[in-house]
Amino acid sequence: MNDCEICGRPINKVYIVEIEGAQMSVCEACAGGKNAIEIVDLTKPQIRPQRRKPADGKDEDEVVEGYGKKLKEARERMGLPLKVLAERIAEKESTLFRVESEKMLPSDALLRKLERELSVKLTEKGAGSPEKHVPGKSQPITFGDAMVTKKSKK
Ligand SMILES: [Zn+2]
Repeated sequence: MNDCEICGRPINKVYIVEIEGAQMSVCEACAGGKNAIEIVDLTKPQIRPQRRKPADGKDEDEVVEGYGKKLKEARERMGLPLKVLAERIAEKESTLFRVESEKMLPSDALLRKLERELSVKLTEKGAGSPEKHVPGKSQPITFGDAMVTKKSKK
């Protein structure tokens, strides 16, 4: 954000004018009628060549934890040898092997193919899993509740 060099107000549209031989960036009001050498509209989005990072987006799908194991299980459930699966989805056997042993993170395209071919879910929304299974922490009913239930059953 630029400030007007005359009145000091922040300006969205910078008028570059020549005042007493000096170039100044001022607001529209201060430019008032003077011949602007250049008008720079700062509200217009600048063109950024930089693309957003693929792995950092909040809306991106993320590979689930233990994807290699899941993948292997799904494949074995279907009785598919690695080689056959690789041929089916036109990938290298070695690539799939590296993915299964979690030595390599599969690309998005590969993930989609694997998910489709094995009908297994290997991704989750980047926002984090809302339901995490907590083993050994299931208390179905408290004593108080049990008593109330008994009483009301009468
Ligand atoms: Zn001004």
